[in-house]
Amino acid sequence: MFTKQFYPILAVLSLSILLISCATTGPGGKKSLILVPVGQEVAIGQGMAERVAQTEKTFGNAEWQQYLAEVGQKIVAVCDRRDIEYHFTVIESDQINAFAAPGGYIYFYTGLLREMKDESEMAAVMAHEISHVVARHSVKRIQAVLGVAAAYQLAFGSEGASEIVDAAINIGMGLAFSSYSRENEREADQYGLHYLVKAGYDPRGALGMYETLARLGGGGASNVFEQLSSTHPETKERIANARALIASMKPLPSSLTRGESRYRRMADSLPAKAEAGGGK
Ligand SMILES: [Zn+2]
Repeated sequence: MFTKQFYPILAVLSLSILLISCATTGPGGKKSLILVPVGQEVAIGQGMAERVAQTEKTFGNAEWQQYLAEVGQKIVAVCDRRDIEYHFTVIESDQINAFAAPGGYIYFYTGLLREMKDESEMAAVMAHEISHVVARHSVKRIQAVLGVAAAYQLAFGSEGASEIVDAAINIGMGLAFSSYSRENEREADQYGLHYLVKAGYDPRGALGMYETLARLGGGGASNVFEQLSSTHPETKERIANARALIASMKPLPSSLTRGESRYRRMADSLPAKAEAGGGK
């Protein structure tokens, strides 16, 4: 029905449609090409969540699960991406970590929660993780490993798409504990700080959080929050960037909270750290 000379035009047209439908927008209004459709992104996240449920121990304290979800939803309410449903889970493990799977699946480890001094520090980590989801960083990484051809198959829902989703779940699991690029981290830090303040938290919570993680990772410890804050120069740069951004936000609303008393009460019900060599 089309003569050959139309093919290049069709190709450009379909690519343009794809670009429009797959573009994502963050607080900076930055658009980027992501071929994996949102439905498939959520399917990848669901698959990863099933794996995490099998391999990690969900913390059995319902009040804590509810608390984390409540703080998470406060950040979601002010973030730039609400086309998906967010899920929050506390994992019982001494690892000092938190991560976000594609499609809005967010995990906090009790080892990290134990080190946070107040709700604003926990919310700062939350805002950072949600920012990775808003900017679709993990699905971008997965797409890069999958390759453009496979991503196109996902985009057009062609045959073999379910095998590609399985492959993407495996890739996602492999990447979940590895570092993002510094550019992605800067972006998540920056978006996160805006969301933190918009949600009513004192942005000094972010500074406290970076300092705590730097102290913990100072000895070269692995497993510290996306294994990112383990070097001092990086943390110094992050703190300096955060200070500059906070200064640019002034005047800050007067009603910002750090949520110390509730956090301290909740922290009392976190599991005690396992003896060295005894825990996971
Ligand atoms: Zn990050």
